[in-house]
Formats: sequence, C-alpha cells, structure tokens
Amino acid sequence: AFDAVVVSRDEEKRQSVALARLTEADLMEGDVTVRVTHSTVNYKDGLAVTGKLPVVRRWPMVPGVDFTGEVISSSDPYFAPGDAVILNGWGVGEAHLGGWAGIARVKGDWLIRRPAGLTGAEAMAIGTAGYTAMLSLMALEAHGLTPASGPAVVTGAAGGVGSVAVMLLAAAGWHVAAVTGRPSEADYLTGLGAAEIVDRAELSGPAKPLARERWAAGVDNVGSHILANVLSMIKAEGAVAACGNAMGMDLPTSVAPFILRGVSLLGINSVSVPRAKRETAWTRLATGLDRTKLAAMTTTIPLSGAIDAGRAIAEGKVRGRTVVEIG
Ligand code: NAP
Repeated sequence: AFDAVVVSRDEEKRQSVALARLTEADLMEGDVTVRVTHSTVNYKDGLAVTGKLPVVRRWPMVPGVDFTGEVISSSDPYFAPGDAVILNGWGVGEAHLGGWAGIARVKGDWLIRRPAGLTGAEAMAIGTAGYTAMLSLMALEAHGLTPASGPAVVTGAAGGVGSVAVMLLAAAGWHVAAVTGRPSEADYLTGLGAAEIVDRAELSGPAKPLARERWAAGVDNVGSHILANVLSMIKAEGAVAACGNAMGMDLPTSVAPFILRGVSLLGINSVSVPRAKRETAWTRLATGLDRTKLAAMTTTIPLSGAIDAGRAIAEGKVRGRTVVEIG
C-alpha cells in the first residue's frame, strides 16, 4: 500500500479531498508502473483540489499532472525497471490517476527518460510549469524572434511558468519585463533576471485595439484583459506565446494587432507533445537552467502538505515552484 491524495465526489457532486492509502489494485490501466519519488504543484492541480474549474474528469482522482520516479515494472520495451522517468500531462491528474501518490501506472508513450544529471527534485522543480516555459521559448524562437528583435514581456511573472520563463529568456539574452500583481516580489524577479517590473494593474483594464509598441515577444500566463493589452503593445512582426488563463479564459481583443502589425499569437499546449519535442525541451532544461536560481525559486513540501499548497496556488498565492517529496 502507498499514500496518495484523493479527490472524491458524493452523490450531490460535493467535492472533498483527503490523504488516503491506496494499493496497486486501485491504479488504472497502463504498461509502465513507476515508484514516484517527486511530484509538484501546478495551477491545474490547484483547480483539481478546489474544484474551481472542472479539470477532473474521473472520480475519484489523484491530482498531480507531473511526476518523476523509477520504473518498477514495464511491458513497454522502451522502458526497463530502474529507469528514471518524467511524466508531464497526458490527462494525468485529470482523467488518469496522477502523481500525488507513492506509485503511478501510466502508458509508456506518456513517459520520457529523465535527462542524465537532472535529479528527481530538480525535474519537479521545473515540472510542467518550467517545461511549458521552455515550450514557449522554443515557439518564439521558431517564429524567428531573438533578443535582437526587442524586449520580451512575461505576465504572471511571479508564478511557476512565469518565474521559469523570466529566467530562461534572461539567460538567453533577452531584456525581460516582468508583469506582476505582487510588487513585493520585485527583488525576487530581478534576481531571476528581470530587467524591469511592470505593475499588473497597468494592463488589467479593457485593451485598446493598438497601443504604443513596447515588446517584440511575450509569454502570457493569464489570458483575458492582460493578454489583450499585451497584444496591443507587441511590435510589428512580434509574437506572444499563450500558456495560461489565471486571469480568465476570455480574450477581449480585436484583429488589429494581427492585421495591422503582423503580430502572431502562438498557442502552447504542454499536455500532449510528441516525444521528440518533449525530449528536446527537457534536454535544454537540463543543460540550460541555472540550478542555483532554480533552487532559489523552489519550496519543498511533503505529500501531506500538497492539499494546502493546491488551495494556495488556486488563489494566486504561491511564488515560484513547489516540489512535493514523495519517495
Ligand atoms: P501560478 O504559479 O499560480 O502562476 C500564475 C500567476 O498568474 C500568479 O502567480 C500571478 O502572478 C498571476 N495571476 C494569478 N491570478 C491572477 C489574476 N486574477 N489576474 C492576473 N494575474 C493573475 O500557476 P502556473 O502553474 O505557473 O500556471 C500559470 C498558468 O499557465 C495557469 O493558467 C495554468 O493553467 C497555465 N498552464 C498552461 C500550460 C499549458 O500547457 N498551456 C501548462 C502549465 C500551466 P503575479 O502574482 O506575478 O501577478
């Protein structure tokens, strides 16, 4: 038997969440069984814990859209017992029992080998948040943007995706403007490499179709009015990678930035990325991230603390990344 966080629902669809003991018989179908050593707390896990948005599609559910650990058994020829693996996404923690558990069983196709030199704790300090930040940087680069194109903007900067995005863009040579609603985190963001701090309030009102051109590239974690304002301020031929919806799912914008400035909106979906691209992103994360800065943005908690951490992230109260130590 092993510990797990379980989200359940009664007949009236009232949701509850608790630490429980499960056995392997409780696990769902899959060809690889993994002893989980670390998981993490992403915004989506906060939604699963609180029910704030209906991300859970199977009851009961174990949250945790990410995990890393060691293969116990595998009928997938790509993996053997003892292999260190990483999982991000694929509906794990939403439709398939997730990483906030001592053991997970999943499809081999969903896993990658953990890059050599990256510990389990470091892999989950990065997590889906950091991996999504890397996918965003790769999308901006594929669009042809470089630090020479102009400054970059990151919204929701003090959050998980935002913190890693600031760090990655700054390390790649970009001038990074960090948009945050928490001015108290200015020193933290400067420490990660932000060159300027922008108050979230400045971008929170209804957007004009076009505004003064400020940034060549953007990574947006919040959607809604903030993304609309950012789009109105992107330089000609620039682009924004849209990752998140922490402010809202809506996007009250106009076609003006697209048709009058050639701005592009690049969609990022980390949940189901082909293995080759996943491996490229993780290899770049393993080699290119400053481990000292990564450690400085990371808080480590035991599995028993994951429920409270999930509630906190759903309220926008978590800074940087949270690692859940399991094994
Ligand atoms: P997080 O740590 O909670 O970061 C979100 C940040 O957004 C907060 O720290 C806060 O930053 C800002 N924020 C929160 N509420 C806001 C509001 N009402 N209005 C404006 N800004 C607000 O979460 P995360 O794990 O980094 O995830 C960030 C977003 O990306 C989430 O929406 C998540 O669902 C999404 N996501 C998407 C993918 C994908 O595949 N596309 C992958 C991972 C995450 P400040 O305090 O600095 O303002």
